[in-house]
Amino acid sequence: MAESAIAAPLPTHPVTPPKKVPKPKSAAERKARLKRILDELDRLFPKATCALEHRDAWQLLVATILSAQCTDERVNKVTPGLFKKYPAIEDFANASQDELAQDIRSTGFFNNKARSLIGAARKILSDYNGQVPRTIEELLTVPGAARKTANVVLGTAFGIASGVVVDTHVQRVSQRLDLTKNTEPAKIEQDLMKTIPRERWILFSHQVIHFGRQICMARRPRCGVCPLDPICYAKDKTLA
Ligand code: SF4
Repeated sequence: MAESAIAAPLPTHPVTPPKKVPKPKSAAERKARLKRILDELDRLFPKATCALEHRDAWQLLVATILSAQCTDERVNKVTPGLFKKYPAIEDFANASQDELAQDIRSTGFFNNKARSLIGAARKILSDYNGQVPRTIEELLTVPGAARKTANVVLGTAFGIASGVVVDTHVQRVSQRLDLTKNTEPAKIEQDLMKTIPRERWILFSHQVIHFGRQICMARRPRCGVCPLDPICYAKDKTLA
């Protein structure tokens, strides 16, 4: 699947200093502000989806495990050769850990990732009849699958809204937009699950990841083209 990109160049505008942006004071104002955020994300990324290329839930699980501390672009370069060499889940279960680690070396943390992939394949074969499980409780028993990975796989491969994916982008953007005051991913996810309607969880996760990559970057966010500037009072806005 291709990365969602913004279709047309965004118009540049003067950035509103954070102190001049009024904070919502009532539940109604918070609701209206959230609607504005969701509407703008829909406008920017109407079809946002996972950028990791895959053919089925198992391939997506592998790609998501490999994507830890690595870019999706790098993972997408590695996985075609990997799935050619190890076409079935059984091939991963029977792989030599050292050899598999070398095959995924360029994604970083390759020894840990190789151990996770082999462990995941063996667990799914022994406990789940070779099928990636479809509940978060079961998926969390699979080596290498923490909540972020489980939410990606369930949401993207099965369309099951088990939670909100909280990666580094969702973490940062949620804090800047004051959708959470927490810093731990698990608590941020709880905040987002309370605020965002469940039917939006899957799309919202992918939209915010794309928004964080393309507009609200970690360093020097592009506030001068960001449609959320009028309602954003993040202290680290880029004013110049
Ligand atoms: S890009 Fe700037 S204005 Fe937009 S959400 Fe991020 S910090 Fe706020």
